Amino acid sequence: MHDSHPDAVTLARWLDGEISDDAGGAVASHVATCALCRSEAEAGQAFAEALAAPVPSLPPGFVARTCARATASHAPMAPLWWLALSRPWRAALAALLLGSAVLGWRLGATVQPQPDPAELLAASLAVPELAAIEGQAPVEVRR
Ligand SMILES: [Zn+2]
Repeated sequence: MHDSHPDAVTLARWLDGEISDDAGGAVASHVATCALCRSEAEAGQAFAEALAAPVPSLPPGFVARTCARATASHAPMAPLWWLALSRPWRAALAALLLGSAVLGWRLGATVQPQPDPAELLAASLAVPELAAIEGQAPVEVRR
């Protein structure tokens, strides 16, 4: 039955002692003569021993210190694209943004608001000559 290599599940069950004596003996005799399966079995045995080993205990105060360090290092960070820029580029970009803001503020203070096109149209419709032609009273424009 086990002239060929046992599959991984069979090998794992054999390592865990879950296979009957007859079948287990066949796997054992194959593993004893097959370097590939012996290597697989040794790796599986090492893994099982690592899982069974007790978890080392943490040093006293480890959790409290770790939590304190994690919360202390929450300073606000600059976006990644900003960090990717070199220092002169950051200075130039900051100056450009500041200059644009100042220029926009100054332009906004000097530009006069445009008259409302709807009011211009209403005023043009209130021309007395137009009303006389049509024989109607001039249109009142409410403001
Ligand atoms: Zn084999």
